[in-house]
Amino acid sequence: MVTVEDWTAVRDALQQYLATAQDHSGPVIQQPPIAELASSLAVDEWILRGELRGSALAQFLRTYLGASTRLHHAGYMAHQVAIPEPLAAVGALVEAITNNVGNLYEMGPAATTIEFALLNWMLRKVGWKAMPAPGVASHGEDARIIGGGTFTNGGSLANLTALFAARSRVSPHAWRAGIPHHLVVIVPESAHYSIARAVDLLGLGQDSMVAPPTTPDGRIRPDALGPLIQELWCQGREILAVVATAGATGSGLFDDLEAIGSVCQETATWLHVDGAHGASALLSDVHRHLLAGVVRADSLTWDAHKMLRTPALCTALLVRDHRVLDAAFHQDASYLFHDKDQPGVDFLHRTLECTRSGVGLRLFLALAAHGERGIAGYIDRQVALAKEAGAYLASTPGITLAVEPEFNIVCFRVEGNDGLQLEIRRRLLVHGDHYVTTTRLRGQRWLRLALMSPATEIDDIRRLVIECLEHRSAILTDETVALVDVR
Ligand SMILES: *Cc1c(COP(=O)(O)O)cnc(C)c1O
Repeated sequence: MVTVEDWTAVRDALQQYLATAQDHSGPVIQQPPIAELASSLAVDEWILRGELRGSALAQFLRTYLGASTRLHHAGYMAHQVAIPEPLAAVGALVEAITNNVGNLYEMGPAATTIEFALLNWMLRKVGWKAMPAPGVASHGEDARIIGGGTFTNGGSLANLTALFAARSRVSPHAWRAGIPHHLVVIVPESAHYSIARAVDLLGLGQDSMVAPPTTPDGRIRPDALGPLIQELWCQGREILAVVATAGATGSGLFDDLEAIGSVCQETATWLHVDGAHGASALLSDVHRHLLAGVVRADSLTWDAHKMLRTPALCTALLVRDHRVLDAAFHQDASYLFHDKDQPGVDFLHRTLECTRSGVGLRLFLALAAHGERGIAGYIDRQVALAKEAGAYLASTPGITLAVEPEFNIVCFRVEGNDGLQLEIRRRLLVHGDHYVTTTRLRGQRWLRLALMSPATEIDDIRRLVIECLEHRSAILTDETVALVDVR
C-alpha cells in the first residue's frame, strides 16, 4: 500500500527537486564520495529494517534527490539523455504499477496498442509503410512492402537487433551453423561504440569491421563506398551491412543517407541507420532534410529518450520490410507464438527481450502533452540554440569551434592541450554550475555540449565559456597542475 501521506511525500519531494533545478538554486551536478552517500541514504539499514514510509520516506527522498544530477537545470549540457516531460514520467509510473508487458498483447492490451500505433506513426515519418492491424483489411492500391518494428530497451540493443536481422538475411544458416568467416560490416570510426559491441556479440570479431573512407569531420564518403564494396567482394568478403549515423555521438553530424542509400540499393547491401539521437529530426519541417534518403535504408534505430522528452529507456527499432525482423529469431517458443486467433499483436518474435515493460506509454504521454508540433518546436529551438552557440564560440578569442553544429551538439576547445580540456571539465563539475562532457574528434580532445535542456539559453552558454576561460587562467598559473596531453 502507498498511503496518501506517502504519495504526498513523493510529490512534494519531486516538485522541490524540479524547482531547485529550474531556478538554479541547486547545482546541476555534485558527486559526494559513494561511501558517504550510502551512509546518508542509510541504504543498508533500510534493506534490513523495511518500513520506509511517511516522514522517513520524505527524508530519504530529500537525500536521494539532493544527490541526483539535475537534468532540468539550464547548466545541463552533458549526455544525450532526454529532459523528461513530467507527464511522460507519470507514464513510467503507470507502467510500473500495472507491470504490463509491451511485447505480448494478452499481458498488456493497452500497452501493446499504444506501441503498435507509435511504431506506425514512426514508420510513416520515415516514409515506410505502416503495419495493418490484425483483422483490418488494408485498403487501396499501396503495394509497398510493409514495414515493421518493435520497442527495445535502448539504442544499443536496437543496433544489435538490427545487425542480427541483417545477419540472418545475409547468412540465413548462421542460426544453426554459426557465422561464416568472410562477413564484414562497414562501420565508420565515428559510429557509436554499441555498434562495435554488437559486432562482437554477433561473433564476428573486431577484425570484421571495415572503416570506410570518411571526410575530415568523420562522415562516410559515399563516392568511396561503392569502390570499397567492390573491392571487398573481389577479396571474397560478403557485406553484412553498412552502418551510417544520423546524428553522430561525438559531433552530432549526419551522414549523407541519400547518397549512401543509393549505393546500398545498387549493391543490394543492408543499410542500417543509427538514428538513436538524430532520427527525431524527422518531426521537424526545418531539419527533416538531415535524414533525406533514410527511406532507402533497411533498418533504423530511433531513441525516444534522447530528443523526444521521454524518460529512458524507450527506443524504436524500425525496418522497411517487417519480414526481415520476423525471420531473424527462430527459437521455438511455441507457447507464446502459436497461431492463436487473438485480437491484438505481439512483438515477442521480433526482439531479444522477453519481459519488457510497455515503454511506449511514456513516449505517447510526451507527445500527448505537447503534441507532435510542440515536440518539433522543442527540437527546432535546441538546434537554433546550438547554431547560435556555434557562432558565438567561433567568434570568441581563445576558443576553437570543432565543426559548425548541424543538430544540438556543439564541440569546442579552449586554447591549450588535451589535458587542459579534461582539467577544465573536471573543475566545471566540481564547481557544479555547468555539466559538460568531452569527446575525441580529428585526433584531439574537445569539450562537448549536448543541448538537451529546454531551459538552457545562450546566456548560460556565455557564462559557461567565461567560466572555462577563468579555469584556464587558474590552471595555467597553478604550478601543482601538470597537464599531460592524455588521449
Ligand atoms: C545514444 C546513442 C546510442 C546508444 O543508445 P542507448 O539508448 O544509450 O543504448 C547509439 N547510437 C547513437 C548514435 C547514440 O546517440
